[in-house]
Formats: sequence, structure tokens, C-alpha cells
Amino acid sequence: MVAVAQLVESWIVIPVVVGSSPISHPNLFLFLSCEILFINSKNTKTMQDKELERYSRHILLPEIEFEGQKKLLQSHCLIVGAGGLGSPVAIYLAASGVGKLTICDFDNVDLSNLQRQIIHEEKSIGLNKADSAKKTLSRINSDIKVIPIKNQMNIDEVKLVAEDVDIIVDCSDNFETRYALNKIAFDLKRPLISGAAIKFDGQVSIFDFRKNNSPCYNCLFSRNDEEQNLKCSDHGVFSPLVGLVGSIQAGEVIKVLLDLGTSLHGKLLLINHRDIDFKILKIQKDKHCKICS
Ligand SMILES: [Zn+2]
Repeated sequence: MVAVAQLVESWIVIPVVVGSSPISHPNLFLFLSCEILFINSKNTKTMQDKELERYSRHILLPEIEFEGQKKLLQSHCLIVGAGGLGSPVAIYLAASGVGKLTICDFDNVDLSNLQRQIIHEEKSIGLNKADSAKKTLSRINSDIKVIPIKNQMNIDEVKLVAEDVDIIVDCSDNFETRYALNKIAFDLKRPLISGAAIKFDGQVSIFDFRKNNSPCYNCLFSRNDEEQNLKCSDHGVFSPLVGLVGSIQAGEVIKVLLDLGTSLHGKLLLINHRDIDFKILKIQKDKHCKICS
């Protein structure tokens, strides 16, 4: 793999060789040939050569390009929970160059977390998870800003933090937090990327409250039928499942920030990892919902 950026007169030229495996694909030449990306030098004022190289595989995508990557670098994402889901979400968003990440978790790293919470390591046992996450993310991408919040906050305090962000990712493990984030995202009209995983079952849904008539988490799971709050500590969770759910959440964050492709807005993705079963259901807005109606 080669990626070089050099200034030629008024253009940045990035020759990139991407992979060499014989892939059968309609755009095969994109994978096998040497691509040259031209970016007008006017745009380079806000992105250094190092950044152009770091994010070149994003910039090559017509759906992202230079402007999309610049937008990611200027975005601020709130990640609530630095556990099984928060780990892949934070790692992918940091690596992707989302410029500012605020990560909340008041819990400390425990040995039993390491089976799936891949942002933490043995040396971090006993440390606060938000602090531990910041350390790992700084090693992955030292150019982005990571703000750890390690104290338990009430709903008003979370709302104050959320006012400053572009998007909220729910990586928590309890209904109380999910309902609170739903209310905050609705009040502030921020997109909410919600994920959950237990045993071999995972789910992802998006509520983009910037859009009119969006359903909300409460429409999907009304507090009245708030069932058993299943916990990983009681029921177990398949390690790669949280990676799968978290990766989908991270992808949806980027897509929503860039208004790219078709998101899971107003839909519920259900995953069974044991039998590799994926379903997408449409979420009906509850006309009697106490939050959004
Ligand atoms: Zn609702």
C-alpha cells in the first residue's frame, strides 16, 4: 500500500495504490490500479498533507471526498458509555477523523470487561473507563480532541453537554439512560444513534430529530412495557456481537453527519449473531407517545 501527497503547482496530487487482490467487481480498476486524486489547492489550506494521507481512503470515496472528510474533522460527537459498544464506536470515529469526541462513563475497567470492551487493556484495570478510552484514542489519532467525562451526571448536566454536540450515540447498558438520552436528543433536535446487545442478539436504531415527525425510542419501547433490564453480567454477551453493533453505529454516525446513503432513521435493525439473521423493521410513531407526540 502506498499513499503519497505532494504539492504540484496549484494542485495536490495523491497517487494511491489500493490493494492487489483479484476482486470481481464492476469497479475493479478502482481496486487494482493507481488512482490519482486531484484537489484544488484552495481547499488544502484547511487540511495538512499528513491529514490528506491519513484520510486518503475516505477522500477517495465519491460519497465522502475532501469536503466530507473536512466536515467529519469539524464534527463533535457525544458517546455515552465506553463499554462493549462504546469501544468500537469511539475507535472507528477517532480513526475516521471525527474531530471532537466527548465520552461519558463513570465506571472503572474491570477484568471481566476485557473480553469485549476492546478500547481497554489489562494495564487499565481499575482506571475510569472514559479516561482509559481517551488514552487509547490518543494513541490511535493524536490530532482529534477527546473529552472524558467520568462523573455520574443528572439529566440536566447531560443536556448541557449535549447542547454542544452534533450527534449523540447511545452505547449505554440500561433503560434509564436510554430514555434520558432519547428525551435530551428530542428536546435538542439532535440525531440519536441507539444500540444494544445481549447474549447473541443486537439492535441498532436511529432517531433523527432534525426531521419532522421522527418516531423516538419511547415509541419503540414504551416505559410502560419496560421489561427486564437484561444485563451482560447476568446473561452474558457474545464478544464479536458488540463489535458488529458498535461498528454499525459508528458507520451510521458518519453517514448521518454527511447525509450519506440510506440510514436506519425510523427503523430498527435486529441482529442474531448466533444464526446470522438480520432484519430491519419500520418503527411506527406512537400518536400517544409522551415524549414526541
Ligand atoms: Zn415517541
